[in-house]
Amino acid sequence: MRIRFYGTRGSSPVCRDGTRRHGGNTTCLRVLSACLPRDTALLIDAGSGLVEAARDLRAEGIRKVLLLMTHYHHDHTMGFPIAGTTLDPSVEVHVFGPREDGTGPREVFDALMRPPHFPVPFSRIEGHVRVHGIDQMETQRLLVHREAGFVWQAAPGPDEESGPRTGPDQDPRFPPSDCLRVRMTRTVHPEYTVSYRLEEGPTGRVAALLTDHEASDEVPDRLRTHLQGVHLLIQDAQYSHSQWKGSKAGYGHGTGAFAAQVMHAVGAVRLGLTHHDPEADDPQVDAIREEARRTLVALEGRDPGDLLFSARDYQEEEV
Ligand SMILES: [Zn+2]
Ligand SMILES: [Zn+2]
Repeated sequence: MRIRFYGTRGSSPVCRDGTRRHGGNTTCLRVLSACLPRDTALLIDAGSGLVEAARDLRAEGIRKVLLLMTHYHHDHTMGFPIAGTTLDPSVEVHVFGPREDGTGPREVFDALMRPPHFPVPFSRIEGHVRVHGIDQMETQRLLVHREAGFVWQAAPGPDEESGPRTGPDQDPRFPPSDCLRVRMTRTVHPEYTVSYRLEEGPTGRVAALLTDHEASDEVPDRLRTHLQGVHLLIQDAQYSHSQWKGSKAGYGHGTGAFAAQVMHAVGAVRLGLTHHDPEADDPQVDAIREEARRTLVALEGRDPGDLLFSARDYQEEEV
């Protein structure tokens, strides 16, 4: 499994000399896995990076897009209306996103694409764009299989994974051990926001994205369970600890020090910092990585070296 970063900036796209090394597109990631059907791409979030991702998908002849939305703040949705795959009726797009109080992906994109915001209304793309609301994120999951495609179902209990597959949600075409499995939990953010955990059945490799999550002094138990043993943790570290303590607490974002604390607590092998502050030039992003490095040295007594990095647009990492 590999992760390709198309957007690593938080809040707003940027383009100035000081930000060129990390890049200026807002959040969009592509998950590459041998579990995906050959004509299918799996993406997370539709920030401005989605426009670049869609160019690649069309060049590759991708016919089906599975798009997982963490939430609907502008920096995670702004690329959707204009992305080539959204407007191409020959590409089947499935959007998965949180739904709360009757508002899910359909309502959000319908509002965003309504004139005068955008000239092509959502109703014009409904023929090839399907939505799937996440309202039970602790029990729903997505399974993707190379031959069978995908299924969206309620999650099994903890014993069920290895035992016989029974019940209405179990489909024999999708043995979990052959699938890419996507599980979810809620982050701490001003909106109903999802953290995705991706488990590649055949290889056992695991990646997770924890973005738009508020730092805290302790690592919550729910996150420890959700992120346990990930090989690559990609986490929001928009601020330094002193910025967060100063004026940024309550904005729903993380710090380098907190990301390091989570990495240590869940036994993550690698940590990629993301959702860089649009105010931060490259040296300031480096300083947040340094804060994470110092925290890890203090917690583990060793330098993480390459196991810790600040994600850059167009970077690709093996999980
Ligand atoms: Zn954001
Ligand atoms: Zn947000």
